[in-house]
Amino acid sequence: MDKNFLKLGIIGYPLAHSISPIIQATALESVGKSGSYKKFEVRKENLPEQIKFFLDEGFSGFNVTIPYKVEILKYLDEIDPVAQAIGAVNTVKINENGKLLGFNTDIYGFKTAIPDAFKNIKNAVLLGCGGAALAVVFGLQELGVENLTIYARNIEKAHDFVLKIKDKIDMNIAVADLAKMTSLQTCDILINATPLGTKGENENRCPVAVEVLKTAKKELFVYDLVYNPAKTKLLFEAEKLGLNYINGLDMLILQGARAFEIWTGEKPSVEKMQTEAVRVLNI
Ligand code: NAP
Repeated sequence: MDKNFLKLGIIGYPLAHSISPIIQATALESVGKSGSYKKFEVRKENLPEQIKFFLDEGFSGFNVTIPYKVEILKYLDEIDPVAQAIGAVNTVKINENGKLLGFNTDIYGFKTAIPDAFKNIKNAVLLGCGGAALAVVFGLQELGVENLTIYARNIEKAHDFVLKIKDKIDMNIAVADLAKMTSLQTCDILINATPLGTKGENENRCPVAVEVLKTAKKELFVYDLVYNPAKTKLLFEAEKLGLNYINGLDMLILQGARAFEIWTGEKPSVEKMQTEAVRVLNI
């Protein structure tokens, strides 16, 4: 076995649409390392077997995605404090002693993608309260946000979401019904963490009514976690109103680049990873 050949991968279910293998292959190439990054679609009951496989085969690490970001915690030897606080791991490093170390690079990806000019934010509005929303809330806390309103279609789920994190979060959090949003007047940053706008059946759907978007101040920064299509309906409307915005591609690339750095100690070319992602996604 070539000791310099890096074995990496991703576990989740389903994984058909993941472009992580492309992104990470580009990362490997950009630092001149030989290696592979493969998808492993795993059923929950086969997780222990899968982890044994990684250890037996000399893997250096792997990503963890839906639905195992929380489930994986019980298999880890050490968990980085940020990942511990959020209670979700998306990156596992396997060290030379076969120990599994857990990290969360989604928070890093989320906040690093925001241009510096828009990082001075106090009032945030978040749409959705699923897995990605969790990383967003911790990211917003690190950015110094003081007031957060979470709009969700299921208020009960949103309250449960807040209940789970409230001890670890030092900001005022309110919960409201997504269908009843009337104003964005005081909002500095609006984040869409729902799949509304995603290619396919949700593509032409905008999570916020245009009339509501029109109430925003001109400095509002709109951040859609969706990256395919590159310009969702929400971003299209934001652009029409002259608002600044980004999609979720930078977050995706940056979380991957940070994971790569954890596994290898080297910084890959974010630019090359991004170019390759845009090419394969055809966006
Ligand atoms: P998730 O755990 O399934 O959460 C989705 C959230 O959106 C839930 O709150 C869900 O509400 C809500 N939702 C779903 N369909 C909705 C609808 N039709 N109307 C209103 N709300 C709806 O998914 P996730 O992992 O958080 O991902 C959310 C989005 O972020 C996806 O589009 C994903 O592609 C994107 N994402 C991007 C990145 C990135 O790196 N850019 C990373 C992660 C995720 P219920 O609980 O009521 O179903």
